Amino acid sequence: MPLIALIEDNTDNRLLLLVILEGRYELVEYETGIAGLEGMLRELPDLVLLDISLPEVDGLEVLRRIRGNSRLRDLPVVALTAHAMAGDRERLLAAGFDDYIAKPIIDEKVLFDSIEGLLSRQPDSETRS
Ligand code: MN
Repeated sequence: MPLIALIEDNTDNRLLLLVILEGRYELVEYETGIAGLEGMLRELPDLVLLDISLPEVDGLEVLRRIRGNSRLRDLPVVALTAHAMAGDRERLLAAGFDDYIAKPIIDEKVLFDSIEGLLSRQPDSETRS
C-alpha cells in the first residue's frame, strides 16, 4: 500500500482525510512542517499532502525545504488549501507543487485522481510545460 505523508495542523481535516484515504493508502500524519520534514527523512513516503496554512513554517517553506533536500526533492507534493482564490492554482504549481486540492474536500474522486495520477507518474518521463 502506498505511503502518504499528511502534513496538516487541523485535527478535523486530518481525521477527514484519514477516513477518506484509509484502506487504499497507508497514512502517516504530521501536525507541523518541521515534524513532517523530520519524519519523512526517517520514513520516506510515496506522496505528500501538504497544508499551506501551517503555524511557524508554512506549506510554501516546507515545499522549499523538500525541494532542497536530496532525499525528498523528487516526492510528489499536493497542496491543500482553504484559501481558494483566483490564481491560487497557478501560483502553487509555479512554486513547485505537483497538484492542488481545495479544502473542504467535497469530491473524493478529485483527490483520488490526483493521488493516483502522481503515484503512477514515471520519475524519468516527467514533463513540465
Ligand atoms: Mn492549516
